[in-house]
Amino acid sequence: MSGQKPPFVPSATPPTWLGVMGGGQLGRMFVHAAQAMGFKVAVLEPARDCPAGHAADYLLTAGYNDPVALNQLSGLCAAVTTEFENVPAQSLAQLAAHSFVAPAAASVSVAQDRIVEKRFFTECAATSHVLPAPHKVIASEADIDAITPELLPGILKTARLGYDGKGQVRVRTQEEVRAAFREMQGVTCVLEKMLPLAYEVSVLAARGADGESAVYPIAENVHRDGILFSTTVPGPNVSDECARRAQHAALAIIGKLEYVGVLCIEFFVLQDGSLVVNEMAPRPHNSGHYTIDACITSQFAQQARAMARLPLGDVRQHSPAVMLNILGDIWFEGDSDNAREPVWDKVLALRGANLHLYGKDDPRRGRKMGHVTFVAPSLAEAQESFDAACRMLGIPA
Ligand code: ATP
Ligand code: MG
Repeated sequence: MSGQKPPFVPSATPPTWLGVMGGGQLGRMFVHAAQAMGFKVAVLEPARDCPAGHAADYLLTAGYNDPVALNQLSGLCAAVTTEFENVPAQSLAQLAAHSFVAPAAASVSVAQDRIVEKRFFTECAATSHVLPAPHKVIASEADIDAITPELLPGILKTARLGYDGKGQVRVRTQEEVRAAFREMQGVTCVLEKMLPLAYEVSVLAARGADGESAVYPIAENVHRDGILFSTTVPGPNVSDECARRAQHAALAIIGKLEYVGVLCIEFFVLQDGSLVVNEMAPRPHNSGHYTIDACITSQFAQQARAMARLPLGDVRQHSPAVMLNILGDIWFEGDSDNAREPVWDKVLALRGANLHLYGKDDPRRGRKMGHVTFVAPSLAEAQESFDAACRMLGIPA
């Protein structure tokens, strides 16, 4: 960090306009939170029918790199953010000519490439005290020949554009790496050593333009088929020591990036208790949805505050929470194609249930349709409602 005081830029206060690149569910929940504070929100998204577009005050239907639309967005909005990390960095740079852009293109581009991201995490290690998994860049057949045995078994991940476990192949031998690399048409990948995970956690941190930062309680995450299944806060496996280390690392990383906005960092906790940093998302995150119902300031309201250069909100959690991700699978009976409607009336009768559906009208298997967060005076009670909801919705425990 430079250590210099950032230049003074006045706050954007309601009812001014805020902008968001991307029209998915994260954009939609951002729109809701920003509108609740009195802001007007414009969304730029190529698809006319999109979750955030249904809620936005203004929808700009255009490509993410359409120069005319980008000019319109930055002309209208005092500040612009993004709801997905693969937004073209040059679009954020163009927006920055007329609007305050948070997070900045430089921060987003680190998170867009696993190689750059891992290098950055390694550079942070002196202050964060966490390292990424042992790994090797695989950009050519020669790189495959040079793989050392301690990296196997491993996971071959594309350097760019992976999400929800897509663009990943588990590999046991050099020959399997070669086959997987060819299957991926030779795009640059990272081979990561397969680590013995005890459990997975994520930490949301936020940083304002004035350099103040805040960190939310640590979340424990369960994935199924590479997609987040549930988030529990406080995590049943998470020790105070582990939480302290992960939160310290998140604050060190967000500070080193000189980031503005909400950043989520995923960590692995290994069977020997050690902490490994996996990846970061330069935006609110699925594992932070619990903050809407369980914290004083939701991750989306926090994003609005940070980009508007307003003071960060209180990150305190007021209730234990368990979040269930709702995928399109539950709109189908068992493994069949027979459609059905989930029993929301029954789920909503459960104690502490908060239903969030994203307004998508074509459920597909594996598609994120919504989430339900159960809050209660105790984690056991929240977990009880969560278990009951899984039974009602036909989700295997
Ligand atoms: P998302 O964007 O949904 O977070 P992703 O596709 O970017 O996912 P990762 O987070 O890198 O991919 O990996 C997905 C999951 O695969 C992890 O949450 C973890 O369960 C498992 N996994 C990834 N890397 C490793 C590893 N090195 N060792 C063991 N398990 C791993
Ligand atoms: Mg991940």
